[in-house]
Amino acid sequence: MTTVEDIKAMFPEIDLEAIRAKYAFERDRRERGDAGKLYRRATGELAKYGVDPHTPVAAREAVNDHVEVLVIGGGIAGLSVAARLRESGIESLRIVEEGGDFGGTWYWNRYPGLRVDIESHVYIPRLEEIGGFPTERYSRGYEIREFLHKLARHFDLYRDALMHTRATGIEWQDGRWVVRTDRGDAFTATYVIAASGGLATPKLPNIPGIEDFQGALFHSSRWDYSVTGGGEREPLTGLEGKRVGVIGTGATGVQIVPEVAKYAERVTVFQRTPSTVSFRGNQATDETWIGPGEPGWQRRRMDNFLAMVSGANPEEDLVKDGWTENWRLLRRHNTGTYVSELEGELRELYEEYLDARVMNAVRARVDEIVEDPKTAELLKPWYRFACKRPTFTDLYLPAFNQPNVELVDTADFGGPSQVTEKSVIVGDQEYPIDVLVVATGFEAGMTAVLSGTLPVIGRKGRSIREVWSKGLRTLHGYMTHEFPNFFQMGPVQSPNAVNFSHILQLHGEHVTAMIAAARQAGAAYIEPTREMEDAWSAELLEVTAPEADVIVAFKAACTPGFYNGEGKYRATPSEYRPGPVVFQAMLADWRANRFSEVLHSAEDLLDDATPVEV
Ligand code: NDP
Repeated sequence: MTTVEDIKAMFPEIDLEAIRAKYAFERDRRERGDAGKLYRRATGELAKYGVDPHTPVAAREAVNDHVEVLVIGGGIAGLSVAARLRESGIESLRIVEEGGDFGGTWYWNRYPGLRVDIESHVYIPRLEEIGGFPTERYSRGYEIREFLHKLARHFDLYRDALMHTRATGIEWQDGRWVVRTDRGDAFTATYVIAASGGLATPKLPNIPGIEDFQGALFHSSRWDYSVTGGGEREPLTGLEGKRVGVIGTGATGVQIVPEVAKYAERVTVFQRTPSTVSFRGNQATDETWIGPGEPGWQRRRMDNFLAMVSGANPEEDLVKDGWTENWRLLRRHNTGTYVSELEGELRELYEEYLDARVMNAVRARVDEIVEDPKTAELLKPWYRFACKRPTFTDLYLPAFNQPNVELVDTADFGGPSQVTEKSVIVGDQEYPIDVLVVATGFEAGMTAVLSGTLPVIGRKGRSIREVWSKGLRTLHGYMTHEFPNFFQMGPVQSPNAVNFSHILQLHGEHVTAMIAAARQAGAAYIEPTREMEDAWSAELLEVTAPEADVIVAFKAACTPGFYNGEGKYRATPSEYRPGPVVFQAMLADWRANRFSEVLHSAEDLLDDATPVEV
């Protein structure tokens, strides 16, 4: 039988107590008090930072018709479900999209150096159907965007789409949804699918004085090439002679810094917490790269990757990259479990050692690459691997060897203390800045339905937020009682995974299967009962319970960030812990055997006398 001593002996190079103490010290150094006040939205006096810099808004007439299906959001979620719906034979289909074109996060984010962090061949939806092949293992942002546009053309999704249009509310009236938008539209829809995305709302840092800055300032998702010169494929010639400040060193910041450093006179990186920066290993790819490419290759590769990173433990690892290498450590922030020969405390200890070994290698890589020991020390992440979104790049760390790049540690101050008209202040140091890039992230996981920016009023006159005031209520994360023919594709009460594109595609397949089956059955409405929601909540609680304490303890020990609610993590059974592979099998079984239970005739719903809960 394995003992604690056996496990310690497996990791002779690791002083776990010292690492624990250092992690706790660094976490405490970053404790930031009121997590709710760290960021500001691009509204009010900061509204200009939310404006679309990529496409001018074209005038158009308001729309007042009826469509069978409305999809709100034209990113990967919306495009995936719409493509499936089109394939299922739905002709009357409209997508409303806030951006000037499809792409969602890949529309907005055009910063220099942008690449996908998940292998393109498992990330880009429907490659086999739409044709073409990624030119690199980790494609540039514009290549992903072009593939998404190709997908939209392939499935004829531009027809009837409304760009630069934000749905401002939907309300159930007389057996259908009435939809209003910020462009004056008022039309109706039989089905509405909310696919507005969980990385849609940029966060601006709440630094005193930020509104006074007189230089150029923009969020990474609103990159202003009129300031920096160049474009996604061209040199940033406008930065010559400029002093650029970058706030934010997450997955976005680490991609931006090396690009900006090529052109700017000086780059000052204001770091609060360093990311883990692992080997990228990018390479050119073509049709021959994945082998014979037999039909179905992409789905097999996607399924294999999903199984790897969510603990289903397949025999073969087809992708073999930084994600699949560390799959055991990833289960802490992604749903999914795996069978281990170790149980309980022994398993936790073993994983902690394993984590320390991986993180030691990440820190050693910093020493290998970064020449200045002081800078190297600051760039080392002191937390467990899954505390923050890991990053993968071979360009970021070497950038700090350039004489024009400086790193400023702001951890003791919770970030820069002040922005003035011409500078950024940290403690008593002032840094003159001409261009300030804020790569400070998004309201992660906060969909328009959850935040209330898309009010949804159901058939009993109540808003969905009111119905959820005591906690989320859904069946499988997609449907809610009182809201017929309304589906949401978001990260609630369902599983998650690092290849979120895959998860969204699975959501799209399930929602399409339900709509297609309802149409075939001639049912007017799809809506779960309250009892079904209760049963789903109870199941979530049950499957979360065995690991709940471990996860809470793990997250509490992490440095603050959006993975742990900025240090205020509370365990809520909003994730399906057994993971996406188990979830898909369960849904397929449910569709085959129990789907009819959510189908209703028009009379059914009109006769519904269930009292409204108060
Ligand atoms: P993140 O939220 O991950 O990172 C924000 C960064 O800004 C953190 O380093 C944070 O520091 C820092 N920050 C925020 N406020 C301040 C402040 N006042 N002072 C100093 N620093 C501050 O945002 P990203 O845009 O980097 O990434 C968001 C998500 O987008 C990722 O998790 C990933 O899912 C996705 N993404 C994917 C990419 C890909 O696949 N290629 C590329 C980029 C993003 P701290 O950690 O201390 O809070």
